[in-house]
Amino acid sequence: MKVVRFHAPGDVRIEDAPEPTPGPSDVKIRVRACSTCGTDVKISRFGHHHIAPPRVMGHEIAGEITEVGADVTGWRPGDRVQVIAAIPCGTCAECRRGRMTVCPNQVSMGYHFDGGFAEYAVVPHNVLAVDGLNRIPEGLSFAEASVAEPLACVLNGQNLAGVGEGDDVVVVGSGPIGCLHVRLARSRGAARVFLVDLNRERLDLAANLVQPDAAICGAETDVVDAVLKLTEGRGADVVITATAAGAAQEQAVQMTARQGRISFFGGLPKDKPVISLDSNLVHYRELTIVGANGSSPEHNKEALRLIANGSVPVADLITHRLPLDRTLDAFGIVARGEAIKVTIEP
Ligand SMILES: [Zn+2]
Ligand SMILES: [Zn+2]
Repeated sequence: MKVVRFHAPGDVRIEDAPEPTPGPSDVKIRVRACSTCGTDVKISRFGHHHIAPPRVMGHEIAGEITEVGADVTGWRPGDRVQVIAAIPCGTCAECRRGRMTVCPNQVSMGYHFDGGFAEYAVVPHNVLAVDGLNRIPEGLSFAEASVAEPLACVLNGQNLAGVGEGDDVVVVGSGPIGCLHVRLARSRGAARVFLVDLNRERLDLAANLVQPDAAICGAETDVVDAVLKLTEGRGADVVITATAAGAAQEQAVQMTARQGRISFFGGLPKDKPVISLDSNLVHYRELTIVGANGSSPEHNKEALRLIANGSVPVADLITHRLPLDRTLDAFGIVARGEAIKVTIEP
């Protein structure tokens, strides 16, 4: 079979590999869709400390079961499934408290296990043990189902930031994650949603699709000023930074309303993780700043439901569908910000 394998930073190869064999507690799938994201671009360029090469990449996975290990119950060949990416251990102190997104023993598809940029993949028993294999509802395509994983992360972020009815929400970063944040905030009853990006072309592309109440280009306008004007001086109830820019996090604190919430959704570059923020704004305005680290199996289930029942449509966010042998082109498209979601169909 054909796979996309990471060998070293800058060395990702499309090559032949033997089909994987599932163990007695594993399931084997024919991958039908594996979506790309910024993380794939980062891995292809810089590697990742959790990846020991060579490793098949791809973590936003949907496909159909072709083989079921002898000890596996509840699944059959032909079942259409979506696979979680981050796999918690299910047994540590955090997992037992239901905090599976911060499991210190977390392992991941495409990192510790071969991922979905391949014709076939093994869903390891670790995934089944935490109920991380989800049946794709009828009528939902594999490509749409593959977007459940990033939406699950977005859902975790908005749960932690308490996005709800009547909120004015600012989303900074108009990539696929930003678009999902806009759509999810609307489905949760946000009053107004404003989308911010430095890149005018990417902002226009995203705004055309998700129709925010205002699209603010940070290269042309002072973002803090713009948000304060749009909110009659209050600031936004929730600001979500879906970008790897420390400046966006610093600005977020300046444009959040009293008792507002800030989600540092996107992490910062490893060599630049320190920001400076006005702590007195946090103090006097009673702001809450939360992080977000991936998603739990339960978030994946809920995300799949939200896509299937139309609360968060994603079909139109998939702007490109490419075959496996064009995965490197896909990374280029993602890196240049020319697409919203690029889905590989192996
Ligand atoms: Zn991803
Ligand atoms: Zn755990």
